[in-house]
Amino acid sequence: MTKLIQHYINGRVTESASGREQDVFNPATGEVSARVVLASEAEVNAAVAAAKAAAPAWADTAPLKRARVLSKFKALIEKHHDDLAAAITREHGKVFSDAKGEVVRGLEVVEFATGAPQLLKTEFTDNIGGGIDNWQLRQPLGVTAGITPFNFPFMVPMWMAPMAIATGNTFILKPSERDPSPSLMIADLFKQAGLPDGVFNVVQGDKVAVDTLLHHPDVQAVSFVGSTPIAEYIYTEGTKRKGAYPLRVQALGGAKNHLVVMPDANLDQAVDALIGAAYGSAGERCMAISVAVAVGSVADRLVEALIPRVQALKVKNGMESDAEMGPVVTAQHKAKIEGYIEQGVQSGAKLLVDGRGLTVPGHEKGFFMGGSLFDHVTPEMTIYKEEIFGPVLCVVRVPDFASAVKLINAHEFGNGVALFTSDGNTAREFSRRIEVGMVGINVPIPVPMAWHSFGGWKRSLFGDTHAYGEEGVRFYTRYKSVMQRWPDSIVKGAEFTMPVAK
Ligand code: NAD
Repeated sequence: MTKLIQHYINGRVTESASGREQDVFNPATGEVSARVVLASEAEVNAAVAAAKAAAPAWADTAPLKRARVLSKFKALIEKHHDDLAAAITREHGKVFSDAKGEVVRGLEVVEFATGAPQLLKTEFTDNIGGGIDNWQLRQPLGVTAGITPFNFPFMVPMWMAPMAIATGNTFILKPSERDPSPSLMIADLFKQAGLPDGVFNVVQGDKVAVDTLLHHPDVQAVSFVGSTPIAEYIYTEGTKRKGAYPLRVQALGGAKNHLVVMPDANLDQAVDALIGAAYGSAGERCMAISVAVAVGSVADRLVEALIPRVQALKVKNGMESDAEMGPVVTAQHKAKIEGYIEQGVQSGAKLLVDGRGLTVPGHEKGFFMGGSLFDHVTPEMTIYKEEIFGPVLCVVRVPDFASAVKLINAHEFGNGVALFTSDGNTAREFSRRIEVGMVGINVPIPVPMAWHSFGGWKRSLFGDTHAYGEEGVRFYTRYKSVMQRWPDSIVKGAEFTMPVAK
């Protein structure tokens, strides 16, 4: 019988009665591996009620005690590293070693969140005047929710839940319906770590669940990661909600990441970087490089070096030890990527390597495709403007450094960017002038470490704070200033002038 993936509410797996379900595929075989329930409004309301009931006690739990639960959770993730990675590969398709890396990047945020007592420490001013002291508190918001994409079913929930929980909030995860299994494994590990029931909940679902979370008056903050149209929807819909507190929204969207190759770059290093960053995880990373910007004389050399490397990619079931690229997530997504390739050809870009029509022996029904490489792509082409989110690299040729910067700054997305050069001043100028949130100099995928924060600019992020790191602490806490004095310091008589330090 096909496995049915359920919700997790108030410390236990909770069977859905919504009557709505969806297939979950193994992309390497093309077979249905499970089905996932899709929550009704009532089921989301039940999760919010559980999170609300658990919130006061969790907020009053000492930060050090909360951190100890997260330390145990971290040890359990380490123990189940391979199981988590295998579950990711099974439903997402990415190569097992890549899935293991995803687990590590999620784990690092847990590690950072175990520093909650230090992170929540605030500033204190002794005697601002008249026997008054002034300090601040960073208090939890209450019930918070996270809505996550298919491409990092473990890491992206870890950008949110450990930060929310460490800072004293309760949390509801609405994972992607395309790879929902890791969400229940996370719930189980939290339970084993001693997290009280109701502090972490999972609702499986689609737009119904998302809309219910967005409009529920007891949800205080929504953190979203996914495509730009949905991120914009979440932000505009969420921030117009009326209530005692406006909903806090942080909505990370799509990307079109460029890697600029200067004529003075080490070409071998730039090619290695492009192959890994464009085709790793079949290009289904928000920090994947999908545009190579070839500056001046480097273009022909770069393209000639790329062609054989793209043709030689080892595309296989992600569980095979020498696989470099697995399948894409679903048959629909594969068809969408193929549609973009066709559009590129029609618009006049030169398709140097065509990844369509690839079959992997023994996995004929899997959602595989090879790497594709386009040259002579121009800024008005759809394949340049839109996020393809597949193993397709576009080369755009520009005459000089200034044109490269202008090209990138004119793009609507601004998630990540990279520059390959051996000149310090070019690197410095680039970092300062580029309108992109995360910059790599001779680093192709500059995903900030857990104690820095992750986020793009322009239409890659709606909202003010970036994810995790200290920005994450600010997102999940409300700032309060306290002034205090004691009766012996109070001078008799009402004051009618603006109080100033005396
Ligand atoms: P998606 O936008 O389709 O889905 C993201 C989440 O939104 C899922 O949980 C999904 O169930 C929900 N959703 C989908 N349609 C909805 C609707 N109409 N109303 C309300 N909710 C809806 O994204 P995806 O395909 O799962 O993930 C890939 C996208 O995510 C890419 O665009 C990628 O760039 C982006 N992404 C961005 C970052 C980042 O940090 N900026 C990180 C990872 C992925």
